Amino acid sequence: MSPEPTVIIGGGVIGLSIAYELACRGHQVQVLERGSQFGREASWAGAGILPPANPDSALDPSDYLRGLSHQLHPDWAARLKSETGIDTGFRRCGGIYLARKSGEAASLTGYMHLLAEQGHETIHLDQDKLLALEPALDPEQFHTAYLLPDEFTLRNPRHVKALVKACEQRDVQLMTDCEIQDFESSGETITGLRTSRGRITGKQYCIAAGAWSSQLLRKISAIPTGIVPIRGQMILFEGPKNLIHRILNEGSRYLVPRSDGRILAGSCEEEVGFQKGTTREMLEQLTDFAYSIVPALKELEVTLSWSGLRPGSFDGVPYLGKVPNVDNLVMASGHFRSGLHLSTGTAVLMADLLEHKTSEFDWEHFSLIR
Ligand SMILES: Cc1cc2nc3c(=O)[nH]c(=O)nc-3n(C[C@H](O)[C@H](O)[C@H](O)COP(=O)(O)OP(=O)(O)OC[C@H]3O[C@@H](n4cnc5c(N)ncnc54)[C@H](O)[C@@H]3O)c2cc1C
Repeated sequence: MSPEPTVIIGGGVIGLSIAYELACRGHQVQVLERGSQFGREASWAGAGILPPANPDSALDPSDYLRGLSHQLHPDWAARLKSETGIDTGFRRCGGIYLARKSGEAASLTGYMHLLAEQGHETIHLDQDKLLALEPALDPEQFHTAYLLPDEFTLRNPRHVKALVKACEQRDVQLMTDCEIQDFESSGETITGLRTSRGRITGKQYCIAAGAWSSQLLRKISAIPTGIVPIRGQMILFEGPKNLIHRILNEGSRYLVPRSDGRILAGSCEEEVGFQKGTTREMLEQLTDFAYSIVPALKELEVTLSWSGLRPGSFDGVPYLGKVPNVDNLVMASGHFRSGLHLSTGTAVLMADLLEHKTSEFDWEHFSLIR
C-alpha cells in the first residue's frame, strides 16, 4: 500500500510550489483546488515582478525569505523549462524606479541607498541615460531615476502551467472542482477532509488557500489570523515588441513589458471583500498612469482588464508554519503583493517543515500567533 499523501489545500502558486518541492524530494502529494483550473485566482492575476533581494544581507526574516526566493527563481525557471518544455517567461529584465517630484525623489534616493548598503547594484540614471535605456519615456517628466539590474520578471500564468505539468509528471495527485468544506478530527489530529468530491484523507495537511485561508482555518482552529482579500486591478496593452524593455515602477504602480510586446499596467489596493471585477474609475486611473509614463501607449488599444484578490495579512508578513494545537496541519498563506516572488523560498522552507527538519529559519517571525 502506498503511504498516505501530504494534502495541500489550494492550487495557486503557493500550493503548487510546495507540492512540486515535496514531489522532487520523493513524497506522495495531493493538491485539492476548488476551481475548475489550477492557479486562476491571485496567481493568474499578478504582474510577475520579482524585485532584487539577497539572503546574505537580509535585514530580517522577511527579507531573508525574499532573498532566498530570489536566489531560487532562476534555477526553478530553468528546471521547469527542462522538465516541461514550458518557457515561463522568466527574464532578468531589470527595473527602473522613477520619481516625479522632489519629495518622492528624496524617499526614492533613501531607499536606493539602503539597497546599495545591502549590496544591491543600484545605478542612478540622468536624463540622457534614462532616454538611452528607454526611448519611449519622456525623461523631462522625471526628477530622479534609478536602474536595478537584478529585478526579474516571469509570466505567472505560464509559470503556474509549468508547475502543474511538472507536478503531473512527478505523480502528484491533482484534483480540481474539489472544495474543502470542513475538517474531521480526533483529539488534536486531523483525520480527513470533507470536500465537494467526498471524503479525502492524508498524513498531513497544508492550508494554501490564498485570500480564503482564514475562512478555512476558522473551521478547525480559533486562532484569528485575519487574512483579508485585497483587490488589485490590471490593464493590458497590445504593443509592438520592445516599446519598453524594463519594468517601470513609480510608487506602487508599474508597467511590465512582456517579450511579445504586451504591456501590463497596475495596480491598486482595494478592500472590497471577496468581490472581484474591475471598475471604470480605476481602469481610467491606470490608463492615465500608463500614458503619463509612456505617451506612445495612447496610440495602443487596451485589450484586457482584470482583477485578483491578494491574500493580505495585517502586517504584510505571510503566515508560515504549524497550526498550534493541531498535530498534522500547517499553513502557508498571506503573501499579499509578493506571493509569486516568495513562492520558491516558501516551498523549500515548508517542505523542510513538513519533513520535520530542524533549521535555523526564524519561524516565530511568520507564526500564526505572532
Ligand atoms: C493585480 C495583482 C498583481 C500582483 N503582482 C504581483 C507581482 O508582481 N509579484 C508578486 O510576487 N506577486 C504579485 N501579486 C501577488 C500574488 O499574485 C499573490 O500573493 C499569490 O498569487 C498568492 O498565491 P496563493 O497561492 O496564496 O493564492 P491564490 O493564487 O489565490 O490561490 C489560492 C487557491 O486556493 C483555492 N481555494 C480557496 N479556498 C479553497 C477551498 N475551500 N478548497 C479548495 N481550494 C480553495 C482558490 O480557488 C485558489 O486557486 C499580485 C496580485 C495581484 C492581484
